[in-house]
Amino acid sequence: MADHCIFCKIANGEIPSATLYEDEDFRVILDLNPAALGHALILPKAHAANLFELPDETAAKALVLAKRISGKLKDGLNADGLNVVQNNGEAAGQTVFHFHMHLIPRYEGDTVNVKWKPGTLTDADKEKILNLF
Ligand code: AMP
Ligand code: ZN
Repeated sequence: MADHCIFCKIANGEIPSATLYEDEDFRVILDLNPAALGHALILPKAHAANLFELPDETAAKALVLAKRISGKLKDGLNADGLNVVQNNGEAAGQTVFHFHMHLIPRYEGDTVNVKWKPGTLTDADKEKILNLF
């Protein structure tokens, strides 16, 4: 657990939260400032600042859990869709530096915005990126 990390304190029950699910590795809570009805956060109990620091085993379990909780939210709230959002780094919109996954139920005509302006994949960019792998 990291000092001064609010999500460590919430995940480990030191700070109360609206908890939808808990097991030995994770706590799933409602976001205090939801983008839409049912906006939930998956928090690992062990501190990792972001995806890059997350142990493989936790990463694998997180997606299975996201699938399970998302299905319950979507069905139970009669949502039309659901976004899984996960921000890493300030430039990517991360504001709490303890890994978390957003589950955001979507409703036709809602005000949630997770869109971007599509660009163009140039040959030079493609080459540069393919050469990384
Ligand atoms: P991100 O911008 O990806 O780091 O997301 C942080 C999220 O945490 C935001 O959606 C906040 O509304 C939410 N949040 C921050 N503090 C709390 C809290 N104490 N309880 C529940 N959600 C929180
Ligand atoms: Zn933490």
